[in-house]
Amino acid sequence: MGSQLKEFLTIQEVAEWLGVSDKTVSRLVLSGQLPATKVGGLYRLRHADIQEYLEKQKLLLQSRTRPPEGPPLQASVERAGPAAPAVSCARCGRLVKGLAQRGGDCQEPDCRLPLCRTCWSNDYDRYCRQHRRSREQKLEMARLRHARGEIPLAVTAEEARQREFTFIERFEQKIEETPYLTGPLDGVKYPVASWDAIRLRSRELDEARLARLRLVQPELSPDLLPQNLGSCYNLPKPRSRTERRGAMLSICASVFSDLEEMAANGFSASLTGRAFLLKILEDRAAANKATDSFTVQGLASPVGWTREAAEMIEGGNGTTSFSSLYIAVCLIDLGAGRLFFNPTDTRLKPFIPLFLGELYYETVQKIAGQVRERLAQSRSIMTLKDVAEKLGVEESTVKEACLLLEKEGGFQMETFPGFGLTISRKS
Ligand SMILES: [Zn+2]
Ligand SMILES: [Zn+2]
Repeated sequence: MGSQLKEFLTIQEVAEWLGVSDKTVSRLVLSGQLPATKVGGLYRLRHADIQEYLEKQKLLLQSRTRPPEGPPLQASVERAGPAAPAVSCARCGRLVKGLAQRGGDCQEPDCRLPLCRTCWSNDYDRYCRQHRRSREQKLEMARLRHARGEIPLAVTAEEARQREFTFIERFEQKIEETPYLTGPLDGVKYPVASWDAIRLRSRELDEARLARLRLVQPELSPDLLPQNLGSCYNLPKPRSRTERRGAMLSICASVFSDLEEMAANGFSASLTGRAFLLKILEDRAAANKATDSFTVQGLASPVGWTREAAEMIEGGNGTTSFSSLYIAVCLIDLGAGRLFFNPTDTRLKPFIPLFLGELYYETVQKIAGQVRERLAQSRSIMTLKDVAEKLGVEESTVKEACLLLEKEGGFQMETFPGFGLTISRKS
């Protein structure tokens, strides 16, 4: 059927009509030069719109003039008035008493508003409220430092959040697939009638925490932050010879991100360390001792653990390892997909498969496969946003998958105004 009879055309039909490639048409659509509507996931273009576009192109060719430039940007529109006698931090508003509490001045040329020590300590963003850096600017700086080897990593809050949710979901799914749990100390089977009844979920990022984090980043959205989720299955111990009340067997998975760092910068640039880990373990061991309970604990970090933290758990040659009668622990690095545990701790072994779910990099690889497959069938372009929506994952995860495809060769990512990042096969 002749395409001139139809009001709506596919990208392929338009390409044929204009005598250009499918990709050229896709580009015009993605960059907003050609209006298109989406029907059932496919773009459709109207005859009239294409005609109008061709007319405009003709006019443009006839008189090629640059659009008028806007007025030059004012360097700083609202400068603060004369310094008040009591100096307060130009970032968080806290009172700065004397030099000891003063970190330095806003780094914007000619600004010089004072910053407190805490705000100054974030060297990605030593600016007052008005001049503060965007998440993108800070991330760019971190990636540069990472490339120069100055920092071990730069994991965005969205990535951390994605890794966290994947991990906890898989843990719960795996544990709830089993008909019973086996006690690590006595080998007794604990039947479970209702998982819901024994599951206790927790998250560190609650309203109070968020309010505190917003002091420094007022526009902070909770959807952009990891939550430090925990999921604990608590089973009362069956009767035993000693029979003490309150005794409990708990199987727990918890995730830890540096929420302050994630909130302030939108990414984390440091591994989770030993001191932090020790504090958590000692607190838990003390609480368990008081109730004669036992916990099998998987502790996950979306960015990874320092060498010292991993060694403390693995034990072995010349290292002081953590050991307790009340807790058996393994560490999970959600970025690298690694697990650290003490191989001589027999209490832990049966539970290890619970903590090795589909890890972040596995998700990324899976998505890369799906994108590759879709693009193999069409010569079109996909926006990363669309892929993320379709697969129900974060756009940052899709981006990671597309970076993988680019590295592999044959694919390229490009940014189109209004559509963001896209991926297509190299022509
Ligand atoms: Zn401050
Ligand atoms: Zn400033």
